[in-house]
Amino acid sequence: MPTRLYIDGEWIAGGGEPIPTLDPATAQLIDEVATAAPADVDAAVTAARRALTAPAWAGLLPVQRAAVLFRIAALLEEHHEELARLETRDQGQPLAISRAVSVTGAAEHFRYYAGWVTKIQGSTNPISHPDTLHYTRREPVGVNALITPWNFPLMILAWKLAPALATGNTVIIKPSEVTPLTAIRLVELIERAGVPRGVVNLLTGDGAVGALLCAHPGVDHVSYTGSTAVGKLITMASAQSNLKRLTLELGGKAPSVIAADADIDTAVAGNLAGATMNSGQVCAAYTRFYVDHKREAEFVDKLARGLAGLRLGAGVDESTELGPLVSEKHLGHVERLVAVGREQGAELVTGGERAENAGAGYFFAPTLFTGVTDEMTIMREEIFGPVLAVTAYSDGDELDHLIARANDTEYGLAATVWTRDIKTAHRLADGIRAGAVFVNMPPIPDMAAPWGGYKASGWGREMGPWAIDAYTEIKSVWLHYGY
Ligand code: NAD
Repeated sequence: MPTRLYIDGEWIAGGGEPIPTLDPATAQLIDEVATAAPADVDAAVTAARRALTAPAWAGLLPVQRAAVLFRIAALLEEHHEELARLETRDQGQPLAISRAVSVTGAAEHFRYYAGWVTKIQGSTNPISHPDTLHYTRREPVGVNALITPWNFPLMILAWKLAPALATGNTVIIKPSEVTPLTAIRLVELIERAGVPRGVVNLLTGDGAVGALLCAHPGVDHVSYTGSTAVGKLITMASAQSNLKRLTLELGGKAPSVIAADADIDTAVAGNLAGATMNSGQVCAAYTRFYVDHKREAEFVDKLARGLAGLRLGAGVDESTELGPLVSEKHLGHVERLVAVGREQGAELVTGGERAENAGAGYFFAPTLFTGVTDEMTIMREEIFGPVLAVTAYSDGDELDHLIARANDTEYGLAATVWTRDIKTAHRLADGIRAGAVFVNMPPIPDMAAPWGGYKASGWGREMGPWAIDAYTEIKSVWLHYGY
């Protein structure tokens, strides 16, 4: 029997054709997942609208709403191992990642935003009107569609759901059709946390379900993480419907600059982690490497050995360092771009093909190209796999030129710099147009720091107080007392 949708506090069958979800390590079926029909989408929006002003939710005191979020965090922790194993089976990531990053990260997000609930403030403002008090209130933005991708299904959902609930919103969750299982399980746990009916709704299904939500006049805000191409479609759907608010976390193509003075062993270890975590299926993954020419040979040699030494296998195997890619379709995308890299003349140092000996699933050998030019497709397009491309820069190059090369991309999500010189670090951190610049470290987000992109990497910021902005409207209240 396929999984069910969750609308207005009831688990119901979806009106559309179920979609299979596969284990990417084995290519075996795990479950049939319900697809929402247009009538299910309408029902979910109606339920979320009703719940928005219902006393059971809107009437909760801040301390009571905080308690709901604390309970969700506790339930995530109580079911930590079960959720980690489910994420690994559905998505492919090694258990070490699903435990430490996905489930722990999700629980920490709920706890962090539970703390915010009692600290969301307005302000009084020194306006120049006589005898008038002016103050602001923060109110929920309304009904939110939370549309998530397949690379970190549970954690990215938590990035959205925790601040949305902390600020008193109602939501419709639309997980990726490729990896929906932990979202379904999270909603089952949320039901037990005492969230009133209609506040959290779950619609599974493919992009067509997401598109219906984005076009729906009853949705006030879409918080979307996924590809830039779909981000553009969502922007058009918003414009053509009710100009709903958008938070867009889109693609990336992060540059990594390795300066002449970098500690190469540290740079190799950090870039290996930054490039291959979750098999490179990370929006902030390090992909384009600009190495000072004096250090290029040493860096490439050590990086290639590091990549070739990674242990590929199923995520459920505790010794696995690199899991499979998420799907046959995505494996095909990575294979195609690697083939283009070879055709365009990049030199393949290691990898470059499917790793069939790792299992029956969608394994791809970690791949390193050198001799790459800035114009090559592998330096420009998001590959979203364990594929690294190295180019050198020379002594004569001014930092400004290097910054221009790093910025020669439509994306601007993340970047990294490896140096022991504080001036180089600051110059590059200042000049690179990206939402996050990591100096001497892998791209690890934190709930207290803003996350989001410049340019085609998105609109708005998640995490910290910035997510409170995304899920609230600011109301300006004018109170004249001079008569
Ligand atoms: P995707 O765009 O294919 O799908 C993401 C979600 O959008 C899925 O739930 C999908 O069903 C839905 N969708 C598809 N078409 C839609 C439409 N027309 N309208 C509304 N929703 C629609 O992305 P993906 O392949 O799942 O994820 C990979 C992408 O996500 C990469 O580009 C990656 O860089 C990006 N990403 C970005 C961040 C970030 O923080 N910036 C984080 C993770 C992933």
